[in-house]
Amino acid sequence: MKYLHLSLLLLLLAFSCEKKEPDEPMTPDLEEFNMLMGNPSQATKETSNPNNYLITLPQYALSYNRTRGIPNWVSWYLNSTWLGDVSRQEDFRPYTDLPAGWHQVSNFDYIGSGFDRGHSCPSGDRTVIAADNSATFYMINMIPQAPQVNQGPWEKLETYCRSLARRGFELYIITGSYGTGGTGNNGYATTIAGGKVAVPAAAWKAILILPIGQNDLSRVTENTRLITVAIPNENTAANLSWGNYRTTVNQIEITTGYDLFSALPASIQSVLEARTDTGPTEE
Ligand code: MN
Repeated sequence: MKYLHLSLLLLLLAFSCEKKEPDEPMTPDLEEFNMLMGNPSQATKETSNPNNYLITLPQYALSYNRTRGIPNWVSWYLNSTWLGDVSRQEDFRPYTDLPAGWHQVSNFDYIGSGFDRGHSCPSGDRTVIAADNSATFYMINMIPQAPQVNQGPWEKLETYCRSLARRGFELYIITGSYGTGGTGNNGYATTIAGGKVAVPAAAWKAILILPIGQNDLSRVTENTRLITVAIPNENTAANLSWGNYRTTVNQIEITTGYDLFSALPASIQSVLEARTDTGPTEE
């Protein structure tokens, strides 16, 4: 009888050990996943740092720039578990949890500007429940984007990312913008909303692609696919492929001063970040 108890105990122990996966818990901390590859600008939640202000939501993380009224960068995680059939909520609205006294960019700040409210984390990447989709419509997630870019190569790259997620990949995506001055449907502008929102000169995106698995940081190798693009904010891109805009993370880092994928070993960063993707541009 004594031995039976002991063996039952051992069996139970064996089962409970099997369940534990220290790196990827059963209920993953989504906020952590969104920035697993690092914090490109060392953004913090200190209000004394208003132009590099960290906001973490379950759906995405970002560095907000109060002076520019747009994010410096937005980082999020994508796999098929984020993809469902919820329709676009279209509830563009201010993010009211900004520190007191900060201008809350609103839908109206973009109306008539000639620029799209260009999502950073796309609506289409958060379609399992309405609340997640709705979170992508906070104005902190938008940049004034030339319509031909937003609805052209930018949108096609977003679609390609989702097709990879559906085919069994998981993606770590960081997008941002730099510079000032773009061309929308009403011509060139450096700001909109009476100066409250900067019009960036270009938008960039870096996408790290892994087959579904665990311990993601440790599975990134020199051969991991990394797609990086930088697209000028100009209304001349309607029918161009995103593949024409491919560049390197090194180039983005030089231009912005950020360190992307800083959670990866330096030796792997140096190889991946120097490479320009040459892979397929559609499914
Ligand atoms: Mn880097």
